[in-house]
Amino acid sequence: MKSSLELKLTPAEAADDQLIRVRCAARLKCPVEQVQVVVRRRSVDARKGDPKMVLVIDAYRNEAPPAEARLLDHVPVPNGPRVLIVGAGPAGYFAALELILLGLRPVILERGKDTRARRYDLRNLMQDHLVDVDSNYCFGEGGAGTYSDGKLYTRSDKRGEPMRVLRMLVECGARSDILCDTHPHIGSNKLPGVVENLRATLLRYGAEVHFGQPVSDFLLQDGRLVGVRSPSREFFGEAVILATGHSARDIFELVHRHGLLLEAKPFALGVRIEHPQALIDQIQYRQCPRDPFLPAASYRLATQAEGRGVYSFCMCPGGLIVPAATAPGEIVVNGMSMSGRNSRFANSGMVVEIGPADWAHLGEDPLAAMRLQKQIEQAACAGDQRAPAARLTDYLAGKVSQDLPPSSYVPGLRCGDLDAILPAAVAVSLRAGLEHFGSRLRGFKTEEAIVVGVESRTSSPVRIPRHEVGLFHPQWTNLYPCGEGPGFAGGILSAAMDGQRVARRVAEALVP
Ligand SMILES: Cc1cc2nc3c(=O)[nH]c(=O)nc-3n(C[C@H](O)[C@H](O)[C@H](O)COP(=O)(O)OP(=O)(O)OC[C@H]3O[C@@H](n4cnc5c(N)ncnc54)[C@H](O)[C@@H]3O)c2cc1C
Repeated sequence: MKSSLELKLTPAEAADDQLIRVRCAARLKCPVEQVQVVVRRRSVDARKGDPKMVLVIDAYRNEAPPAEARLLDHVPVPNGPRVLIVGAGPAGYFAALELILLGLRPVILERGKDTRARRYDLRNLMQDHLVDVDSNYCFGEGGAGTYSDGKLYTRSDKRGEPMRVLRMLVECGARSDILCDTHPHIGSNKLPGVVENLRATLLRYGAEVHFGQPVSDFLLQDGRLVGVRSPSREFFGEAVILATGHSARDIFELVHRHGLLLEAKPFALGVRIEHPQALIDQIQYRQCPRDPFLPAASYRLATQAEGRGVYSFCMCPGGLIVPAATAPGEIVVNGMSMSGRNSRFANSGMVVEIGPADWAHLGEDPLAAMRLQKQIEQAACAGDQRAPAARLTDYLAGKVSQDLPPSSYVPGLRCGDLDAILPAAVAVSLRAGLEHFGSRLRGFKTEEAIVVGVESRTSSPVRIPRHEVGLFHPQWTNLYPCGEGPGFAGGILSAAMDGQRVARRVAEALVP
């Protein structure tokens, strides 16, 4: 018999499987030997007193928990039509997996390198300030998600099956905790291995994966899309899934050049803020040092300030700020963390919503928002990858800092005037928002915190439209915009789910 139970435990108790069983047996008033448990949900409740772990458990008395069939085993090798997928990010790889399960043959074209080779380019970027335009924190196998925090939650779960993606990730080597944590994450040290296993699965079932193939044009015959071209090769297929992410500016330009519909899209812009992790633990858990069984504390903040939404974005507890530029001469920052989230720092984007009025001075064409984004990233660059930064207290007082506290950002920081980089209206809202967050979280507004410019790749500055049901482009009906690049996802999980949805529509169109 199955019973659903909720237990509130200390962090140490929640890490003890036998104790959980004993507590469940006590609740069910039966001997512990008769009980098996599956934790369905695990979250931290830090609202008052010492933080507790809340577990939602399925307890089975005198029966074994049902075994779930693996999703990626025993797949027949597909022999259906060839489908080209441009981009090996979460959208591209999960579209490919789904196509295989539906009997189609995916051919994946990726501008960057495989995860291992990509690592050398990241080292060159971190240590020698060298930005490779095809291999960096945004481009390469696994996409922008590979060397990230690997947070795996989404608010768009109505548009797909998050659990299906999570189970596939577990089958490819991710820890099974991601199936029950309310805020699951994998970590930068583990993600590349998971991505490699995803690729191995794809190859085992007949997919092709081609690295070092930056797609630079579409191939047309009698006005119909028949394939794509890179500088070295041509590839042909029955349909093209465009899953190139939010940083592929050359792809947006290509789509525009072919006269296909696309439009400028609102996005968010600001800075990354970094605090000592111990301070965030103190604020959230009222503990310093924190209980070793508790995860590094995080926050999620949002407000309206001076007429604009201001919010924290992609918070990385126990993480690092990383350089996420995709071309020399620009500065972009983002955040990541290892699976243990054990760095001394906590960082998060602090961003302000921007819309058409903010890029009106740059023209009315669909690429105007992208140009604004690029201008700001270039204004933040003083030659190398050192990022402009200020102490939070100096920034709020309108001052340029004279010195900076230690930071996790490996290429190094320089004292910079962020007001000379961000649009004035964004700066006004950002300051008001930060003041508000400082008043909500005691200790948040401190000279130990720094703000680092610029956080500009929060989402795509362009939307490529698609048919609401068929998910194809309204002009070329075998071109499928997919994932974060065309504006249909925001994060690893939602991009993967969008890949799966698009694959199903492609299969319906090609295999009636
Ligand atoms: C440092 C960092 C940390 C992040 N942390 C998180 C996080 O913790 N959780 C989360 O949910 N999200 C995070 N994100 C965002 C997340 O990675 C993206 O939302 C997600 O990867 C989008 O998936 P996608 O497949 O749509 O695009 P992408 O992941 O951007 O993949 C696009 C792929 O297309 C390739 N490509 C681009 N142009 C071409 C071309 N012309 N030809 C061939 N290939 C091309 C790229 O190289 C890339 O591999 C982070 C991003 C960064 C940069």
